Amino acid sequence: MHKKQSCLRRQVLNDGSIVPKKIVIIGAGIGGLAVANLLAHAGYDVHVYEKDKVAGGRAGRLKINGFTFDTGPSWYLMPGVFDHYYDLLGESTKKWLQLQKLTPAYKVFFEKTDPITITGSLKKDMKTFEQIETGAGIALEKYVAQSNEIYQLSLKHFLYSNFQRPTDFLKQDVLKKLGILPRLLLEPIDRYVGKFVCDQRLKQILEYPMVFLGTSPFTAPSMYSLMSALDFKEGVFYPQGGIYQIIESLVAIGKDRGVTYHFNEPVRSIQSLKGAADSIILTSGEKVSAGIIVSDADLHYTETKLLKSTDQSYPAQYWDTKEPGPSALLLYLGIDHKVPEFEHHNLLLVDAWRENFSAIYDTKTIPENASIYISKTSDTDPSVAPKGKENIFVLVPLPADITLTKKKMEQLADHYLDQIKTTTGVDLKQSTIVRELFGPDDFKTKYYSWKSSMLGQSHLLRQSAFFRTPNVSKKVKNLYYVGANTTPGIGLPMCLIGAELVYKRIVGDKRSGPIAKITRVE
Ligand SMILES: Cc1cc2nc3c(=O)[nH]c(=O)nc-3n(C[C@H](O)[C@H](O)[C@H](O)COP(=O)(O)OP(=O)(O)OC[C@H]3O[C@@H](n4cnc5c(N)ncnc54)[C@H](O)[C@@H]3O)c2cc1C
Repeated sequence: MHKKQSCLRRQVLNDGSIVPKKIVIIGAGIGGLAVANLLAHAGYDVHVYEKDKVAGGRAGRLKINGFTFDTGPSWYLMPGVFDHYYDLLGESTKKWLQLQKLTPAYKVFFEKTDPITITGSLKKDMKTFEQIETGAGIALEKYVAQSNEIYQLSLKHFLYSNFQRPTDFLKQDVLKKLGILPRLLLEPIDRYVGKFVCDQRLKQILEYPMVFLGTSPFTAPSMYSLMSALDFKEGVFYPQGGIYQIIESLVAIGKDRGVTYHFNEPVRSIQSLKGAADSIILTSGEKVSAGIIVSDADLHYTETKLLKSTDQSYPAQYWDTKEPGPSALLLYLGIDHKVPEFEHHNLLLVDAWRENFSAIYDTKTIPENASIYISKTSDTDPSVAPKGKENIFVLVPLPADITLTKKKMEQLADHYLDQIKTTTGVDLKQSTIVRELFGPDDFKTKYYSWKSSMLGQSHLLRQSAFFRTPNVSKKVKNLYYVGANTTPGIGLPMCLIGAELVYKRIVGDKRSGPIAKITRVE
């Protein structure tokens, strides 16, 4: 157990500025938990206020009749980012998570042709590509090598940056890439991928990760080809027990470092005094004073509902210019027998690829035939389903900002289960013994999600990197933001990076790149 901090109220930074030591964090999603740990490890007095009775937010856990589901995330990507985060706390991924590399990485079903399995071994996957299209094997190797270069460069210079020191980007390796920068930023990834492979199925396999970023391959910039370095080169992992193990580990580390958690404590407002963060007011009416406040709650909601209008840096009209990522219909299904047709991760990609994205982002209509994600973590982890049964999670992306009645959700769920049966031959409907749905309105009521988005702001170019909504208030000193809606963006590893960015802001570290260690404040 780390020694509880002294009750120093303030600390002096190297540049002479004075920072309060008591920090309040609103929300125990991964972003809130992660930043709480970094700050507590540094010696701050950290209090997390969460409206729910448990931690996790979108990365929650649902247990029904012997079945265990991760409520949101299921892909463990960017393992190096997790490793770095645990290292900073003097811990290790190995100590907290029993990671297993998934082989195969995932299986992709198509409407009219046989499924393609991506093994996670580049050599084997090159062979698969080559069998489908002459020259596509080598093209995949080249694509992944270039994706990896962009990924490494992003890790080193861009993802871990608050963009406070422009000179940091005048580094040799960044300058060398200047020539291709316009292409990386301006060319949509669909066009870029088309320079490597022609077969629609192969293109879809290189483009589907755009859904993880809440965007479409027809608008996302080709810099996001870096995502293919994740599944093809680094591999896809699974923590035994489920993604929720990550959340449990963060809370356990936090407790050890002296973080105080207040569950079932919704925050009603953030108060300022003389232009600086002063306190939060709970719905119980209690006032909690703090010199620094970090909100992990949805950023639109934090700005427009928790702050008074004169304290809003990003008021309602700011969000009118922003694009949300998609909403979704989620199905948590307990199946009364094994389903060998599915792997741990499965994708059903529709032939009408462009039309499907257009329905979600342009016409905002519910797609008749949807591209669907299915996970079956019981494939890898016997602890998440009763013996001989499977836990199946189905994710159907839907347009943001729609409302569905419970009845409509049930009808849609049945409709998409029929589609799954037609495409894969697996009749999930007949053998379901547990069924729980979660839809657009639930994202709104449970997470106060802006426009009922499942993920937050989409990663269009104008909402990425230095264009993304910053993690600091422009109006209230010592008020910061963490989580998927701010920098660097969506996803568990990105939220861990975002936590480090907030830590850097608070301690006044303006450098880009990951930090080497947490400096204790005394
Ligand atoms: C269906 C789905 C699938 C996903 N798949 C993946 C994946 O496979 N891999 C991956 O890496 N990422 C995935 N993601 C994205 C990832 O889950 C999120 O980016 C991440 O969990 C967001 O964390 P967060 O801290 O920003 O916010 P949240 O998880 O939304 O946490 C915010 C917290 O704030 C609390 N809160 C809100 N208002 C208040 C208030 N007034 N007072 C107190 N507390 C409040 C909420 O209750 C919540 O606990 C997925 C997300 C979803 C929804």
